[in-house]
Amino acid sequence: MPEAAARSMDAETFAAFRAQIRRFARERLVSLEPRVFEAGEVTPDIRAEMNGMGLFGLTIPAEYGGLGLSIGEYIETMMEVAWAAPAFRSVLSINTGMLATALKVGGTEAQRAEWFPKLATGAIGAFGLTEPDSGSDSAGLRTRAVRDGDDYVLNGTKRYITNGPISDLVLVMARTSAENLPKNAHVSAFLVPADTPGLTRAKEDRKMGQTGALTGDIVLEDVRVPTSALLGGEEGRGFRTAMMALDAGRLSVGGSAIGYARRILDSALRYATERKAFGETIANFQLIQAMLADSKVELYAAESMMADALRRAEEGLPVSTEASCVKLFATEACGRIADRAVQIHGGAGYMAEYDVERFYRDVRVYRIYEGTTQIQQLVIAKAMLRDFAAAA
Ligand SMILES: Cc1cc2nc3c(=O)[nH]c(=O)nc-3n(C[C@H](O)[C@H](O)[C@H](O)COP(=O)(O)OP(=O)(O)OC[C@H]3O[C@@H](n4cnc5c(N)ncnc54)[C@H](O)[C@@H]3O)c2cc1C
Repeated sequence: MPEAAARSMDAETFAAFRAQIRRFARERLVSLEPRVFEAGEVTPDIRAEMNGMGLFGLTIPAEYGGLGLSIGEYIETMMEVAWAAPAFRSVLSINTGMLATALKVGGTEAQRAEWFPKLATGAIGAFGLTEPDSGSDSAGLRTRAVRDGDDYVLNGTKRYITNGPISDLVLVMARTSAENLPKNAHVSAFLVPADTPGLTRAKEDRKMGQTGALTGDIVLEDVRVPTSALLGGEEGRGFRTAMMALDAGRLSVGGSAIGYARRILDSALRYATERKAFGETIANFQLIQAMLADSKVELYAAESMMADALRRAEEGLPVSTEASCVKLFATEACGRIADRAVQIHGGAGYMAEYDVERFYRDVRVYRIYEGTTQIQQLVIAKAMLRDFAAAA
């Protein structure tokens, strides 16, 4: 993005596809949640079933075996997937997000031919940017890639890497210059198969929520890769490539917050109409109605922002500011909606027997990854000040 995004199918066909994914998420994936929670991961057989629905290749071009969805179609699809537990979205999100974009905008033809067909059929991708000492300040990374004849040798540690423990391919961001260069040209991206000697997939992190969505360290000790593993075959383009994927990534996390908020609000509504207190259904109490209504207002606002941002993206207009607005608002709103849902459930809302306590924990991270709320504020304000100065 941005470039005018051709829709991959006519509106009617897409509506049917979307309805099919909606049913799959609401019926099949929801029914599989207990198994995922017990196993602590989306097990290979479930991944195979998701793969059968085309989910791993949503954004991968059709000529390489994907569905080639446009940005609008992709986010609309992810909002449906996001009704189910976040583990399902998480296991496919790096394939369809960062890796698909990186290969499309920054990869060589040979890299696309090698990796797209594998990723489209369920090989698991991971994206390694964050490190123990650099997160929001991602350009401050320390992982080094040093040229040695026809190879690069990589050393460093990547932290909190989604799908790290089960990854087949890691897009590793590493510095190819010891100095910090203008426009972050010290950062390059490498396509590193996870079975490369010296790469260790550390065991998964223990987290607050999102059971089954795996994260973990990726440790690189003298990992030797051929120069053909350098994304795009050119040093210094890693950061630019990552930034190009950010708009879609932020819309995707915003969309996940919207999709899950729909389910959370549905649970709150259901409970409010079933639970009785003082001889009445609690949905009759106006203070409960206020919580339901406030949640609906915020969900509708997030959906409307998303619809506008997607329309702009499909027209090829810049959407960086809008993507940050959607990410910030939708994830913060989702947190408030989950909090109200717990409140509407009363004591039951605190009990693991009901879903809402896990919804509450699950959504917390949406405000942290893909740029924290504070980083979105900085992005939005910077764009405002730049546009104001340009107009003055
Ligand atoms: C479940 C999960 C999955 C993840 N998956 C991946 C992944 O697949 N790949 C990957 O590379 N990373 C991943 N991350 C890492 C994630 O992107 C970072 O955690 C996030 O960007 C924040 O970085 P940090 O944790 O270092 O926090 P810090 O950058 O240390 O931030 C700490 C606090 O300071 C605030 N802050 C920082 N800078 C500023 C500033 N300039 N102005 C105001 N406030 C500021 C932040 O908003 C935050 O509140 C994942 C994280 C989690 C929790």
